[in-house]
Amino acid sequence: MRTPIIAGNWKMNKTVPESVALVRELKPLLVAKPQQADVIVCPPFTALYPVSRELDAGEIALGAQDLFWAPKGAYTGEISAAMLLDLGVSYVIVGHSERRAYQNENNALVAKKLAAAFEAGLRPILCVGEKLAQREAGLADRIVRAQLEENIKPLMADQIRKLIIAYEPVWAIGTGRSAEPRDAGVMARAIRTAIAAKFGTKVAAEVRVLYGGSVTGANSKDFLEVDGIDGALVGGASLKAEEFAAIVKSAS
Ligand code: PEP
Repeated sequence: MRTPIIAGNWKMNKTVPESVALVRELKPLLVAKPQQADVIVCPPFTALYPVSRELDAGEIALGAQDLFWAPKGAYTGEISAAMLLDLGVSYVIVGHSERRAYQNENNALVAKKLAAAFEAGLRPILCVGEKLAQREAGLADRIVRAQLEENIKPLMADQIRKLIIAYEPVWAIGTGRSAEPRDAGVMARAIRTAIAAKFGTKVAAEVRVLYGGSVTGANSKDFLEVDGIDGALVGGASLKAEEFAAIVKSAS
């Protein structure tokens, strides 16, 4: 039985006071009823430490939105896995499509970041997904499998079983146009099949596959009910405590 994950990606939103206010608003909404899901918030780097101090009780885990692959050195502006661990971070998003688009992150770089995250003891959330033209050309499955294969190249079976994969069609992110839950399920199952082909069904059965792309309190249940989808990576809707809490509840 895979525990669902609801992860909030705050992206480049919220100052420190705003981040603290959001998490303070969120906490009581989640403790009212025991959650059946692992809940993660991923604030911007600048707010990780103050948010971490608010999360002592452990109802909510802390994630970062990115990391650098080297442990330390002359990499101006970068943040290492050890620095994230210092702040109480346990999860890290890797290969988000916005980083692939705006920071030109390629599959080889994403693979190095995944390896660095595992090496340091962080749980990575790997994002994969096709662009609209690729879906329209019938290439979604092929593109996502290719991304996945390249990204997980350096990983061992023991790391794969701990991997969290977010299937995030690029055209559905931040657009208000979510995928059809049925289509998202097809892709989530294709991802698990690809893992099984390489690492066996036992390992693949442990991997949690999330859907991400315009998930809201109103549509989350439709995704979470689909066979093969083990949770959601949520952007815009994670910036509102009530709405994010509603998504968490729909996973219970
Ligand atoms: C995301 O940032 O990963 C995401 C899915 O964003 P949104 O929910 O806003 O589409």
